[in-house]
Amino acid sequence: NETINKIAAGEVIVRPVSVVKELVENAIDAGANQITVIIEAGGKNRITVQDNGCGIAYNEIPLAFKRHATSKLSTIDDLESIESLGFRGEALSSVSAVAKVQITTRFTNEEVGSLTLFEGGKLINQRVCAYNRGTEITVSDLFYNTPARRKHMEKDKKEEMIVRDLLEKIAISHPRVRFQLSCNGRIVLDTPGTGKVIDVVAGLYGIDVAANLIALNYENKPMKLAGFVGNLKTMRNHRDDQVFFINGRYIKNSRLAQALDEAYEGYSMKHQHPLGIIFMTLPGRMLDINIHPAKTEIKILNESLVCLLFKQGIRETLRNTNLIVEL
Ligand code: ADP
Ligand code: MG
Repeated sequence: NETINKIAAGEVIVRPVSVVKELVENAIDAGANQITVIIEAGGKNRITVQDNGCGIAYNEIPLAFKRHATSKLSTIDDLESIESLGFRGEALSSVSAVAKVQITTRFTNEEVGSLTLFEGGKLINQRVCAYNRGTEITVSDLFYNTPARRKHMEKDKKEEMIVRDLLEKIAISHPRVRFQLSCNGRIVLDTPGTGKVIDVVAGLYGIDVAANLIALNYENKPMKLAGFVGNLKTMRNHRDDQVFFINGRYIKNSRLAQALDEAYEGYSMKHQHPLGIIFMTLPGRMLDINIHPAKTEIKILNESLVCLLFKQGIRETLRNTNLIVEL
């Protein structure tokens, strides 16, 4: 059983960023509006995620760390709508199978909190303790018991960059949450938590860039678009600043990126890429629900049609924007 858990863990947890992703998504699901991530040595030595969400009840802790234990999935419809971020109940069990985990938490309805230690998937110790509100999970010595995985990690700086990159995307799609990331004691990300996407974007890309964004608000059933695209002053020679979300989830999709570029044809020069922070809403039935929890690729059924509608939406937005005409 321990072996099975380690193998399952290997699919979900491949590097520090996987841990951060799972813990932060849990914190969001728990209703937190303040999430702090602290990493040391790119997350290899230590990853801490603190949140002010609902917390976990004392008696629920052992269960939460069991495989396929989830409090979130009630029907198959839930799975299709992927509204709650985690839905397989694999994260906590996977993390604890390949690291040392300490969790301090207090459930909103309980008087006292608890402190629990796991090592290699086993509950080592649990006791009550005073705790203010929410949950703090510290994951130490990642892959201490799976040397092959440990060797697979990149240099600290690189792992740190990957974590930061992911948190930026999560922050953009959750503007109501104040995110902080601290790497080796230095705060490298701090979002305002105002509830406005543009405020997060201004913090990440700079106020100048934010001032040159065109708001996107388009509906062509069954697709909806929101977010921002850049005007011609913000054209890039790379695609790093094209960020896509489908139903709130960060995804990578080269055909959508291509369609975004094509929407600017006639406006922009060759080999230029527009900036875009784009939120697409699609009915769950148009997405492949069999997405691996740790992957950012998503399969859009009817992708060509979706790309076409998407491109039309962007073009119409550009056409209605005086900024483009002026330039
Ligand atoms: P899933 O998120 O798929 O349900 P996880 O293994 O990530 O599975 O988490 C198991 C359960 O632990 C969750 O369903 C949730 O009830 C609880 N949980 C995990 N993290 C938190 C948190 N930060 N705050 C409150 N509850 C949490
Ligand atoms: Mg989860």
